[in-house]
Amino acid sequence: LGQARTDQIDIVRDLTQIEHAYDRMALIRDLSGAIGNGEIFLQYQPKVHLRQQEIVSVEALVRWQHPTRGLIAPADFIPLAEESRKIGALTLWTIRKVIADQQLLAAAGFDLPIFVNISGMLLADAEFVDQVCTMVRGVPTKIGFEITETAVIRDPESAIRHLHTFAQIGVTLAIDDYGAGLSSLAYLKQLPARELKIDKMFVLELTSSNRDPLIVRSTIDLAHALDMEVTAEGVETPAALALLSVMGCDMAQGFLISRPIAIDAMIQFLEQDRHLGAMASMRPTFGRPEAF
Ligand code: C2E
Ligand code: MG
Ligand code: MG
Ligand code: MG
Repeated sequence: LGQARTDQIDIVRDLTQIEHAYDRMALIRDLSGAIGNGEIFLQYQPKVHLRQQEIVSVEALVRWQHPTRGLIAPADFIPLAEESRKIGALTLWTIRKVIADQQLLAAAGFDLPIFVNISGMLLADAEFVDQVCTMVRGVPTKIGFEITETAVIRDPESAIRHLHTFAQIGVTLAIDDYGAGLSSLAYLKQLPARELKIDKMFVLELTSSNRDPLIVRSTIDLAHALDMEVTAEGVETPAALALLSVMGCDMAQGFLISRPIAIDAMIQFLEQDRHLGAMASMRPTFGRPEAF
């Protein structure tokens, strides 16, 4: 009986895996049409400079409004886009859209750099790098890339070369999610990055944890020693913001300041901020209760 039960459990587990694989295949198939069908859109989240007390840049975050499944988070489709080699097309679309949205910001009087998340996998793709250079080179506004460090380690030589190419054409580079995954101190000194973003896993419980403040503090000091600016992501409380200020963190991003919002809402937010000042607008109620 025991063996039979084990077998049954195995079958159930196999079925779940098959369903899961089928689901992934269906999603990958849907993803092919998603851009053309207008299902992909961007939201923007500001970064506040703590000493200057102003919004200094915004980050673009991609979303997928699926016709039957509803809103799908990037964590659930970026890996599929990477696997199915659709990430290049998705990222080129994102950069093109960011350049257009940046014109809307400029027209409203806000000349802000916008950061795009770049999957490290793409840093090995010479054709992608060429296409990005063509797209970004003629643009008068400032573009930044946030790179997850793990991928740099996978193919270090071409990645570092391509990152230098991006830096040469004026793209500001940030290392994203620092401390999560395979962070390598060795690469920190080789990358032409100007900004280091501390992963939100160290920030969310900053004021209730014993270790997180030590990790964050030493990461800030390390980044400064390397002449980089530091951004803390996942800032949700005034207490965390205050502690980060004391620790000398340069910039903060999180729900306390604003949730990711549409470009129109971002323009409104910036206009409100121009009157009130960034710190005054840091109230948890601002960001609309959108899904992310
Ligand atoms: P990320 O680049 O580290 O972005 C930060 C994530 O944290 C975003 O999740 C954001 O909505 C969320 N977040 C911001 N502030 C807070 C906060 O105060 N508390 C909490 N709990 N979360 C906060 P999102 O938008 O779901 O994106 C997840 C990840 O998906 C991003 O992490 C990024 O790695 C990836 N991603 C998003 N857009 C793109 C894209 O266009 N291309 C690529 N390759 N990856 C993308
Ligand atoms: Mg990012
Ligand atoms: Mg990040
Ligand atoms: Mg992160």
